[in-house]
Amino acid sequence: MRTLGLLGGMSAESTTTYYQALNQQVRARLGGLHSAQLVLWSVDFAPIAQMQAAGDWDGAGAALGEAAARLEGAGAAAILLCTNTMHKVAAAIEARVQVPLIHIGDATAFAVRARGCSRPLLLATRFTMEQDFYKDRLRGHGVEALVPGQADRDRLHAIIYDELCQGVVDAGSKRQALTMIAKATGADSVIFGCTEVGLLLSQDDIELPVVDSTLAHVEAGVEFMLG
Ligand code: GLU
Repeated sequence: MRTLGLLGGMSAESTTTYYQALNQQVRARLGGLHSAQLVLWSVDFAPIAQMQAAGDWDGAGAALGEAAARLEGAGAAAILLCTNTMHKVAAAIEARVQVPLIHIGDATAFAVRARGCSRPLLLATRFTMEQDFYKDRLRGHGVEALVPGQADRDRLHAIIYDELCQGVVDAGSKRQALTMIAKATGADSVIFGCTEVGLLLSQDDIELPVVDSTLAHVEAGVEFMLG
């Protein structure tokens, strides 16, 4: 099994999902006592989130590049950056390591296409929904993402940072997010494009096919580990 490096802590709530899902999938594939061979570097999210809010993407890229180099030094043969938003600085991370960064946007687009879909509603942070770095990556795979309106984007961003990243799962916020999905016209699917959204919503709540970026990313990671 090849060793996978997890660059996590963004937030710690969703890194827990990565750890659990990677181990479950490796056990499902190999059976018995098999589990995922991993190295985890889990950052303190507060200073990273401050850099995001301040628009200091160079600073964030340098910090995450340093963490990725530590993962490589510890034996990681590839890296999973356990957040969609911070893929904005994917190039800065890739510049610091020799091993591949398995891009969450590629894994997510692949899962959308595998469901026969191409126009997903993207539920994510404001950075991911409003800037081009992520939507362009999807577009490169023939996936054209739609996003909620401004007020809904603001509310979703607050749900992610003020609640989900802090371990709060609120029933009222869940209803609001489901209303955003119900309002979306022209979407053929839904992307949980933030690694915490799967803590709030699931496929069972939604009629359209759902792709959870966390689980798509985990699948790509398992594929790398086991080939
Ligand atoms: N985990 C989230 C994401 O997938 C948001 C936290 C962050 O900004 O990294 O985008």
